[in-house]
Parts: sequence; structure tokens; C-alpha cells
Amino acid sequence: MTENLNPLKAITDRIRSVRNLTSIHKSLFDLIVQPERLLEVSVYLKRDSGELEIYKGYRVHHDTSRGPGKGGIRYHPDVTADSITALAAEMSLKTALVDIPFGGAKGGIACHPEAFSEAELERLTRRYAIEINPLVGTYKDVPAPDVNTNEKVMAWFADTIWALNGQNTTSVITGKPLALGGVLGHQGATSLGVLITVKNILQKHNKTLAGKKIILQGFGKVGGPLAFLLHSAGAKIVAIGDISGAIYNRFGIDVVSLGAHLKNGGSLNGFNHAEVIDQKEMWALKADLIIPAALENAIDSKIAEVIDCKYIVEAANGPVTEAADKILAQRQIVVVPDILSNAGGVISSSFEWAQDRQGYSWDAKTATDRLTNKMTEAFEEMWGRSQVNKISLRQACLLIAVERLAQAHTYRGTFP
Ligand code: NAD
Repeated sequence: MTENLNPLKAITDRIRSVRNLTSIHKSLFDLIVQPERLLEVSVYLKRDSGELEIYKGYRVHHDTSRGPGKGGIRYHPDVTADSITALAAEMSLKTALVDIPFGGAKGGIACHPEAFSEAELERLTRRYAIEINPLVGTYKDVPAPDVNTNEKVMAWFADTIWALNGQNTTSVITGKPLALGGVLGHQGATSLGVLITVKNILQKHNKTLAGKKIILQGFGKVGGPLAFLLHSAGAKIVAIGDISGAIYNRFGIDVVSLGAHLKNGGSLNGFNHAEVIDQKEMWALKADLIIPAALENAIDSKIAEVIDCKYIVEAANGPVTEAADKILAQRQIVVVPDILSNAGGVISSSFEWAQDRQGYSWDAKTATDRLTNKMTEAFEEMWGRSQVNKISLRQACLLIAVERLAQAHTYRGTFP
């Protein structure tokens, strides 16, 4: 049987898997699973050559019962209505799990962003902002960066929304540059949250990070800073994979040199201080921890069979397929789910939104302390629930999130 890799079916099945563990009425449960609204737009782009091209774009609100929609904007060829809806559902669960006053949303454009000049990327972003403007707003939907978008893209997006609406509401988008109401620490917040989660799971098994061998997939906005944090905490990153391939060094990869090498235009497999290996070979290496920080479905059932580690901490969204999850559970490999481990970014986004609305910036220490507390509180809740109910960490997270969503819907009631 071929493995189901449809992300929407995967997340829907996952949410439904905790249905029997709750007393939530079936119709309310169905309401939580369904997306609220999906906007599909045609985004035109005038290329530098003068030619006009049209790309499909989306913005999905999955559940806004607990607050405005929150979720990133992704530019990637694999963007579809289903993949964006699945990611929006993940956001509803994540914001509920870490208990921040947001719902779940996501957006994106199906395109190859690397093929565009900077001016083209700006025009594409501004046109997309115009198209989804009716859904966006401080109290409606607050986008943020995701794969292949960054603070520069957020700045173009914000400027367009402000121009369209005649108001400079900085709280309409997060992940902005500091000069436009962004916050200190946002860029590394997801990575810091993953580090806190790694430390917490090890601590539950009376272990520390020092000397632990780690395999990391993805060296982008999440994986890059995470590699430095793990390295600084004494871990050994023995293998790193990205879209171009994978490298290995049994003594630990010098991530500082690697970062500099990549910044200077080098590629992973052009890095001299590690051996180039096959991506498939990478997953089978002996390690303490694996951290997938690239894209969905990275660990499928075949990879799950050969993995030789004790813990997987999901930094990417949806990196372990359903079939792989079952195999990992049978093999007693602990998986800390994405909606908990990578929540640092959205927590920091909620801090940015709060500071923008307040018109007052917190210092970096306040933000870091609050992020650490939020991540640890959510971790403890997940851990406690999994112990009490004797369920996996993923099921515990889903259960907590779904119950919070059901509670919000119940209090709000039905209208009309
Ligand atoms: P990014 O675009 O900055 O980096 C993506 C990384 O994945 C790159 O190193 C790229 O080379 C690698 N990659 C892409 N395709 C690959 C493939 N087929 N095989 C191996 N490696 C591949 O993206 P990011 O912002 O670092 O996001 C990574 C993941 O984390 C995504 O799932 C994203 O949704 C999730 N996430 C990101 C944030 C955030 O704050 N950026 C927050 C929460 C979750």
C-alpha cells in the first residue's frame, strides 16, 4: 500500500484520532476539524522582462474561535489549497496548545521564488497582499514569515496593507524588521523554542544535551540558528542535510564555519570539514536525537524503519508521516510533536502583536524569559497529560488543543 502523503488528510486523521478520548459532541468535533474559509487568488506578476505571469495564491482561516487567525506565508512550488489548509489547521492546534490568543491561519503562493529577482519578489508580494487584504487585519488575521519568506517580505506586505487601508497598524503582521515594529529575538524564537523542548525532553529522562549526537535536517531560518544553539549547549551535530544533500562528521560539524561558508555562497556538499553522504544514509546514522527542520513528510515509513536514535523533536511542520509515526511508536522512539516543539515562533509573534498594540517594546530578557516560560508550561502540560492518559506526546498535545477549541466554541455558542 502506498503511503498517504496528503497533508490535509494526515492532519484531519490526526485530529480525529483523539475523538474517542474526549467527550466533545460529534458535530462540535466536526466543526473544529473543518476550515472556516479558504480564499484562492490569482496573483499576477510583471516579470522584469515585461512579461505577465499568473500564480495561484491562498489564505486560509482554519479556526478563529480563540482569536484572530495566525500563520505564516509560504512561497513554494508545492503550495496547494490542501497543503495550506493543513498548515492552517496545525496553527489552530498550536495556538490553542500554547494558549495564546490566536486562531489558526496560513497562506502562500505556488511558485519558485528562487527564480525571481528581488524586484519581482516585491511585486509578487504586494499583489498577493492586495488580493488577500479583505481577510487580513489586527483583529482578523495576522500573517508572519514561513518557508522562503522573511522580514523583507513582511515589510513589503505591511507597507501594501497600510497603503490600502490608510492606517499604519504595525500589529497587522509579525516577523517585521525592527524598524517597522518588529521585535528583538523574533528571528531565533522558533529555534530557541526547539532548544528548550530538546532540553525538556532529555531532562524528563534524566539526561542533558552535553555530548549528545544530533542529526539535523534543514539549515534555514529554523535549522540554522538551532544548529548554533545546540552546538553552544554542548551537543554534537554529527550530520546535517538540506535541499542540496547531506554531510557527516562523527566528531561534530563545526556549525560556525559551516554558517560562514554558506553565507559566502558555498553549498553544504562543498564544505571541506565534513564528509558528503547520501541523504538516505543520513537518517540511518546512530545518534541520540533527530531534528527534522525542513519540510513535511521528511520521515516516511521506510526511514522510520532504519532510524537509530531515541528521540525525534519535530522542528518542521508535519515532518513525520502517519505511517512513520506508528512505526516509531512500535520502536519506542519518542516523538515530540511539531505543534509543541516549533511553537516558539508563534509565541514570539504573539509578543510582537501585543507590543505593537501596546505601543511599547519589551527588553530582550523579558521576551526570552516569557518565551521560555510559555514553552515549558506547554511542555509540562503535554507531559502530564500523556502520563495520566497513557497516550503519546502527540495525542496529548492534540487532546489539549482540541479541548481548548471546543471550550471556545461552546462559550461563544452558535450565531445565528
Ligand atoms: P527555510 O526556507 O528558511 O529553510 C528550509 C530548509 O529546508 C533549508 O535548509 C532547505 O535547504 C531545506 N530543504 C528544503 N527542501 C528540502 C528537501 N527536499 N530535502 C532536504 N532539505 C530541504 O524554512 P524555515 O523557516 O527554516 O522552515 C522550516 C520548517 O519549519 C518548515 O516546515 C516551516 O513550516 C517550519 N516552521 C518555521 C517557523 C519559522 O519561524 N520560520 C516556525 C514554525 C515552523
